[in-house]
Amino acid sequence: MFVRIKFAAMNSEKKNRPAVTIIGLGPMGQAMGHAYLEKEYSLTVWNRTPGKADALVARGATRAATVGDALNASELAVISLTDYDIMYTILESAQASLPGKTLVNMSSDTPEKLRQAEQWANRYGAAFLAGGIMVPPPMVGQESPHVYTFYSGDEATFKRHQAALQVMSATDYRGRDVGLAMVYYQALLDFMYTAVAGGVHAYALAKSAGIDAKIFEPYFQSFLQFLPDLFASSNTAAELDSGRYDGSQNNMRMLAAGTGHVLHASRDAGIDVSLPEVVDRIYAGTAAQGFAEAGINSIVEVLKQPARPGN
Ligand code: NDP
Repeated sequence: MFVRIKFAAMNSEKKNRPAVTIIGLGPMGQAMGHAYLEKEYSLTVWNRTPGKADALVARGATRAATVGDALNASELAVISLTDYDIMYTILESAQASLPGKTLVNMSSDTPEKLRQAEQWANRYGAAFLAGGIMVPPPMVGQESPHVYTFYSGDEATFKRHQAALQVMSATDYRGRDVGLAMVYYQALLDFMYTAVAGGVHAYALAKSAGIDAKIFEPYFQSFLQFLPDLFASSNTAAELDSGRYDGSQNNMRMLAAGTGHVLHASRDAGIDVSLPEVVDRIYAGTAAQGFAEAGINSIVEVLKQPARPGN
């Protein structure tokens, strides 16, 4: 009798808990799942490879047998897949379960793909939000000023689910155009991918001269600390908005000579030169386009031009 009462109480507790479904259990989806379990949500999960749900199921999550079952379990479905096309592949088999649901797609893709996805979801009677999460999986659910996600789409839908979304990270709603979350996300990743490639290329250049990465590391770290000052002293944001680029302290003529030196040093060292070639093309191209005496931010004059065929 006691056991039955306890079981009934547990069931009603489960019913009273807020519910969320997660579709996609790569490292990111799994981290999100653990964050929801930590906050005692009723969590239902689905993944193409079911075994990736094992650790979450061991902590109380429900493994849905079908995508339709996963959608039926909660009004809110968080999607975490490699890209948006996979969402269609997965959800098209569960169209009947879409009306009345809110899909929050946290996957990476282009802003245009997000806009198409919103229309697709709305056609099937589902609300749609896009999220661009700015942290790696181990930081999901942690309270830190660096742990946040850009969101975009219908604001009322966002506000209705904001408390649930805050379980994963702080939220930063960017606007009604559903593509905006990815514009902010991609712009920052644009910087991250290029910066990491440049940083590792720097290590490769040092190593080509027999300098161990461990020896080079403190100099690299110190230079990283200097980057915020570099951007601040270059007045990057203000100059990009005004279109005036102060070259009084360092101009594109001198800087383009410098990018040429990095390119030639890399070539002499026998390492890959594709990255310094591109950088040199941008800097030298800016100087050649009438900005030889302008400052470093004038490279935007080249960068904002349309892509050439083949780029
Ligand atoms: P992945 O990008 O590798 O996503 C893996 C998920 O996609 C798994 O659920 C996988 O299923 C599923 N998937 C891939 N291809 C298919 C397919 N053809 N059919 C069905 N399912 C498929 O790993 P993450 O979890 O790391 O990333 C998820 C999203 O989060 C990505 O868009 C990523 O850009 C973004 N993100 C990731 C960060 C990170 O540091 N990991 C940081 C910020 C954003 P299965 O398990 O069956 O293979």
